[in-house]
Amino acid sequence: MKIVFLGPPGAGKGTQAVDLALEFGIAHISTGDMLRAEIKAGTELGKLAQSYIDAGNLVPDEVAVDIIRHRLKKDDAKNGYILDGFPRTVPQAEMLEEMLKDMGTALDRAIYLEASEEVIIERLSGRRICRECGKIYHTTNMPSRSPGICDLCGGETYQRPDDQPDAIRQRLQVYQEKTADLIQWYADRDLLTTVAADIAREDTYKELSELFEQLK
Ligand code: ADP
Ligand code: ZN
Repeated sequence: MKIVFLGPPGAGKGTQAVDLALEFGIAHISTGDMLRAEIKAGTELGKLAQSYIDAGNLVPDEVAVDIIRHRLKKDDAKNGYILDGFPRTVPQAEMLEEMLKDMGTALDRAIYLEASEEVIIERLSGRRICRECGKIYHTTNMPSRSPGICDLCGGETYQRPDDQPDAIRQRLQVYQEKTADLIQWYADRDLLTTVAADIAREDTYKELSELFEQLK
């Protein structure tokens, strides 16, 4: 099962993908998480990526494609995967298609998680993340039991620099300019399914999980 998640930042791609990957025994592959791990580890790639990410811009296509190329070759990708945050531009989608063809395979589905701008701004500005385990919280919708401390591991929760208002505006603009076209791109290839993502999280999950059942 090879699936791409599309949708604006804040649609809940990461949150849903973590749970689905666990339920269906496939890998959750997030280019954003991988880039943040590089930044945290202080690698050359991380240094290059940081200025783009903090400002809410995309890293260059070649950087994103390179990361994915290596990641798809790992063992845990053999059972299938959810790509979360990749592709983000039409050239990335084209390169992914080529890459999979070379590997003798293809995507099963592109799932578009649809949410209004109002909802996503509210979600992004309240988002908090555990520095240690990556668990995602929200200051009003899903707060940790004690403020600033992760329920699961006791780690410190923080706000991503790109979840500050200026960077959120920039990310939404970049999404409209570069990423939104992918919805039509996948529809043209008969691969698109749209799922409502501005309803309750459990309701979106239920729809996604039924869809994954059919694709299995
Ligand atoms: P969100 O979906 O919440 O916007 P992600 O964690 O997916 O955030 O990505 C964070 C940032 O990482 C993006 O704003 C961008 O700078 C960079 N990034 C992630 N994936 C890609 C990609 N496929 N191409 C270019 N930049 C990417
Ligand atoms: Zn934690």
